[in-house]
Amino acid sequence: MKSFKNNFYMLRLIWKACPWGVICETLHWLIHRTSELFYSVFLLRFIVKAIENGTDFSKVAMLLFLVLAYGVGTGAFSAWHWNWYRRKVKLKIDEMLLQKMYEKAVECDLSCYENPEFYDKYTRASSEILQRGMKILENCGRMFSILISAIISIFVIAAWEPIVIPIVLVCAVCSIMIDKKRSKLKYDCMVDTTPQTRAQDYIKRTVFLQDYAKEMRLGKIFFPLLNQFDKSVKQALKTTRHYYGIEAWLRVSRELFMSFGTYLVAQGIIVFRYIEQHAYNLSDVVTILNAATVLQSNVYSLSWNMSDFIENGLYIENLKTFFEYKPKITENENGIIPQNKKHSLTLKNVSFTYDGQTKPTLKNISLDIPEGQKIAFVGHNGAGKSTLVKLIMRLYDVTDGEILLDGINIKDYKLSDYRHSFGTIFQDFKIFASDIEENVLLHPTQNADDEKIARDAVTASGLMDKVNTLPRGMKTQLMREFDDEGTILSGGEFQKIAVARVFAKQSSIAILDEPSSALDPISEYEMFENMMKACADKTVMFISHRLSSAVNADIIYLLEQGEIIEQGTHSELMEKGGRYAEMFEMQAKQYRESEAQE
Ligand code: ADP
Repeated sequence: MKSFKNNFYMLRLIWKACPWGVICETLHWLIHRTSELFYSVFLLRFIVKAIENGTDFSKVAMLLFLVLAYGVGTGAFSAWHWNWYRRKVKLKIDEMLLQKMYEKAVECDLSCYENPEFYDKYTRASSEILQRGMKILENCGRMFSILISAIISIFVIAAWEPIVIPIVLVCAVCSIMIDKKRSKLKYDCMVDTTPQTRAQDYIKRTVFLQDYAKEMRLGKIFFPLLNQFDKSVKQALKTTRHYYGIEAWLRVSRELFMSFGTYLVAQGIIVFRYIEQHAYNLSDVVTILNAATVLQSNVYSLSWNMSDFIENGLYIENLKTFFEYKPKITENENGIIPQNKKHSLTLKNVSFTYDGQTKPTLKNISLDIPEGQKIAFVGHNGAGKSTLVKLIMRLYDVTDGEILLDGINIKDYKLSDYRHSFGTIFQDFKIFASDIEENVLLHPTQNADDEKIARDAVTASGLMDKVNTLPRGMKTQLMREFDDEGTILSGGEFQKIAVARVFAKQSSIAILDEPSSALDPISEYEMFENMMKACADKTVMFISHRLSSAVNADIIYLLEQGEIIEQGTHSELMEKGGRYAEMFEMQAKQYRESEAQE
C-alpha cells in the first residue's frame, strides 16, 4: 500500500512539473502494449477467419491498409517521443526534483548536517534523485499499459477457456510476492552500504575539491584516506555479496514458477482441448493461444515492473522523508518584522548543547549589547565564540535561556527578516564561482545602485587597489568552475571580499567572526581602520583569538570553556591583571619574538 502511495506522490510531482510528459509516456506504452494484442490476437483472428469463411480479398486488403496507416502513425509518434521529447521530459523532471531538493537542503537546520542518520538519508536521496524521476514515470506508464492489455486479454480468454485465467493469475501473484522480497533485499543492501557510499563520497570530495588540495599535497594524508577507501569498498562488497546471493536464488525460483505455471499448464490445456476434444475451430484456437501468450507476457512484465514499482516506492519514501522534513527553526511567516533601525541585543542565561553532545558548549551567558556598541568576544579556539554567533543568528536555538532583540525573543520574529538585520562573516566563509560584485552582494547585480554598493564595500574592505589591477575589475569571475580564466585570489584577499559583504549589507549589526585571521598585521590594522569607519554607526560584534585586534572595543568579553570569565574595556582588563592581561602579555611576547626572528 505504501508503494502505491509513494509512487502516486511522485507521479503527482511529475504531473505538476510536466503534464504532457506524463500523457505522452503513458500513450507511448499504451500503444506499445495494445499493438501487440491487436496484431497477434485481433488481426490474426480476422485473417484466419477470412480464410476459413472465404471473405472477399478487397475487405482484407482494406483492413491491411488501415493497419499499415496505424503502424506508420504510431511508429512516428513513438520515434518522436522516445528519441526527442522524452529527453526534454527527463530534464524537466530532474530540474524539478533537484530544485525541490536544493530548496529543502537550504531550509534544513544546520544541526541536520551533524546528524548521521539524517545525512545518510540526504546522501541516499541525492545520489538517487537524477535516476528515479524518469524511472518512476516509465514504470507507471508501463504498468498502466500492461494492466489495460491484460484486462482485454482476460476478457478474450474468458469467452473460451476461463480456467486458464486463475492459473495464470495464481502464478502471477506468487511471482509478484517473490519480487517484492527481491526489491526489499536490494533496498536493504543499498541502506546497509550507505555508510560506505558516504565514506567513498567524502574521499572523492577530498581528492577533487580545491579546499583540500594543499594539505593533500603537503603531507601523506592521502594514504590513510586510501586505506579507508579500500576498507569501505571491501565492506560494501561483502554486504552486496550477502544480499545478492539470496536475491539470485529468489530469481531462479521465480523463473521456474513462471515457466512451469503459465507456459506449460495454461497452454497445455488449450492445445489438449483443441486436439483431443475438438472444442474450438482454428481461428478460435489461434485467438485463445495468442491471448494467453499476451496475458502471460503481461503477467511476466507486470511482475518485473511490480518489482521496480516496489523498489521505487522504497526510494521515494527516502526522498519523501527528506522533502517533508520540517525544520525545527522555521520561517515564522506571521512573526514580527524587525524595524529598519539600530537594535539592542540581550542574552539572558543562555546555555547551549550541540545535538549528540553531553556537555554544554555555552553555559549561562548573560550580556547586554546596546545599539551602536563595538564589542569583542575573545578567547582560545574552542571557547565557544562561534557557537555564540550561531545562536545570535538563529542558526541554532538556545537549549536554555533566551536571546532578545529590542526586548523581544528572537523566536518571535520572522526568521528571514530577523537574519537580515545582521551582516556576518564566518571564519569558514565561502567564495562562490561568480564575479566579485555578486560575491560581495550575495545576490545578482540588478542595477547601478547595486554596482555602487559593491564598489564602496570593496573600497572599505581595502581590496580596491587589487581589483583595479584586474582587467575586468568588479566583473572579474572568481574561481574556475564556470570559467577557465577565473581568478584565484590569496587567502587574505578572499577574506577582504568576505568583509566587504558586511559593508554591502545594509544591516545595523555587523558580526565578524575572526575576519582577520588570514591577514598580516599591517593588513589587519588597515582592515580595522576601514571597518571601524564603515561600521561607525553599526553595532559591531567582533570575534577573535588575537587579543590585539580587540583593544579598541567598547567592551571585551573573554570566554573560556563556554563561560564569560572576564569583561570590561582593554585598559580595565589589563589593570585587573587577570586571565585577559596574562593572555595579552603572552600573545604580545610571541608577536615580538616572531618579529625579532624575521
Ligand atoms: P571558537 O569559535 O571559540 O573557536 P566554537 O564555538 O567553534 O569555538 O566551538 C566550541 C566547542 O563546540 C568546541 O569544543 C567545538 O568542538 C564544539 N563544536 C563546534 N561545532 C560543533 C558541532 N557542530 N557539533 C558538536 N560540537 C561542536
